Amino acid sequence: MPRPILATIYLNAFRHNLSIIRQRASNSKVWSVVKANAYGHGLDRIWQSLMRTDGFALLDMNEAIYLREQGWQGPILLLEGFFKPADLQIINKYRLTTAVHSHWQLDEIEKAKLDNPIDIYLKLNSGMNRLGFISEEYPQIVSMARGIKNINSVTLMSHFANSDNEVGIDGQFAVIERLQMNSLPHCLANSGAVLWHPKTHRDWIRPGIILYGASPSGKWRDIADIGLKSAMTLQSEIIAVHELPKREKIGYGSRYTTQMPIRVGTVACGYADGYPRHAPTGTPVMVDGIRTQLLGAISMDMMTVDLTQCPLATIGSTVELWGESLPVDVVAESAGTIGYELLCALAKRVPVTVG
Ligand SMILES: *Cc1c(COP(=O)(O)O)cnc(C)c1O
Repeated sequence: MPRPILATIYLNAFRHNLSIIRQRASNSKVWSVVKANAYGHGLDRIWQSLMRTDGFALLDMNEAIYLREQGWQGPILLLEGFFKPADLQIINKYRLTTAVHSHWQLDEIEKAKLDNPIDIYLKLNSGMNRLGFISEEYPQIVSMARGIKNINSVTLMSHFANSDNEVGIDGQFAVIERLQMNSLPHCLANSGAVLWHPKTHRDWIRPGIILYGASPSGKWRDIADIGLKSAMTLQSEIIAVHELPKREKIGYGSRYTTQMPIRVGTVACGYADGYPRHAPTGTPVMVDGIRTQLLGAISMDMMTVDLTQCPLATIGSTVELWGESLPVDVVAESAGTIGYELLCALAKRVPVTVG
């Protein structure tokens, strides 16, 4: 038998979450963001359950080629643009839409030999200062782009730094509105903006994390009422049980000391499976459907859980690390990170099944 750890990917969660997104942004087309191997869920497993999307957005050329070779005929957007001039031949061959964020990219598009003019997403740096042209130069860049024969359509693209927190999007949105680029289609909203800033929806939205049923803010309570379904469950089993007396120490660094006699279980899951090593004592885990907690440090392949609340738990009992009954965001918050990171970090060695 293999080690009992297993990730289950629920394809119906994608259909469900996409339909919730469509309800919330009913006048916009949807780029389903599937970068980073579909946020760790496996692009090959999940893309067909998102067939009703209007396009797929990602950033790895190989993932784009994969989708084309699998038969996806609709639009594919390269969110980070192209990295080297030679990439334009891939964009040409596979009919990709590309972000354009730097002057050299426009020059290369102009020089390239292409079969058909391409669609570009001209990136505006509205305040995140990661990619894009600043607003002062943007109108001039738009006219340049319009004069390039190799360019078909131009869409204004910008990205929000604070759509999921109290700072909000107003500052960046004002920069975009001031440009009055009303003749260009706009594509602005990430998941946080899809949920909480409807005025940003415009022509195309770019939701990622909410397709997977996790929170853009990293806080589960922020999406608890939205009805999203979590697309990944990570589970394992108890492989050993110990009755420990008072004042025993648990795990590497002896970080936890028992306060009274307790029963503990050893679970076959550790940081080499993608579980966050920084998760402290008290981080929730589900054992046979009962919520209990981690005790002591996470090892590479194992962790220890408190079985005080679960008297019936024994070797072979199911342990849910995150998923349907324990949101990944709750675990992430306890470990000082966000659900995105845990999902993307699911280790290759973890077997995956589709549910
Ligand atoms: C990752 C990404 C998104 C999706 O972000 P979520 O927070 O997962 O919705 C949208 N746009 C760009 C440019 C991105 O890089």
